[in-house]
Amino acid sequence: MNQAALLFQLQVVDSEIERLQARIAEIDAAIAADQQIAQAEQALADSRKANQQAAHALRAVEENVKSLQIKISTSEANLYGGRIKNPKELQDLQSEISSLKKRLAAIEDEQLTAMVSLEDSEAGEKKASENLTLARGQAASRHAEMLGEKDQAEQKISRLNTERNAHLSSLDPSTLEIYRTLRKQKRGVAVVSAADGACSACGAELRPAELQAARSPQGLAYCSTCGRILYAG
Ligand SMILES: [Zn+2]
Repeated sequence: MNQAALLFQLQVVDSEIERLQARIAEIDAAIAADQQIAQAEQALADSRKANQQAAHALRAVEENVKSLQIKISTSEANLYGGRIKNPKELQDLQSEISSLKKRLAAIEDEQLTAMVSLEDSEAGEKKASENLTLARGQAASRHAEMLGEKDQAEQKISRLNTERNAHLSSLDPSTLEIYRTLRKQKRGVAVVSAADGACSACGAELRPAELQAARSPQGLAYCSTCGRILYAG
């Protein structure tokens, strides 16, 4: 087989490998950019933070309630303990207790609000966690087809690489260099068929001498119009 024919086969393999690699990159990018999972993860992180804040706020209010209750019971013990006899002192104590109780009632309202907020944020976190599980499940089935396709593409690339290595071992290094340079310059098409008497890439009609050169087992022949290697097969 002449070098042009080998190069033509190599080009078929190389083009297929490139196409498959591009598709794998596309699949990887599509999976990485799965917005639904990213959004569900962010929502869960946000709701966890809100839940922690609500729990912290409730603890602070509970501590306030406890310390007021202690103050009230201490003052009441003093009031009814019989140790204080002075009416003015007793009156002051009574009004202190009454104002402490007013504050306690207000703070108990805050406590109730804080408890409701905590319940809401706990429910929110649970919901966000369920949403993330759902999003992951949906993504797995959404991507199952793509992941299967990627797997097949990788297996095919591996088979093509074996084929490619066989071609490479039959080609001269200098011929390969020409092929590689032309492929870069000519958007992946370095070798063209001359079977119909015309260049299959640029369409130029080939002179008999060009066709003759393309058929020769010696050296490479080029399309005089586009510069690609001619393959007579
Ligand atoms: Zn041409």
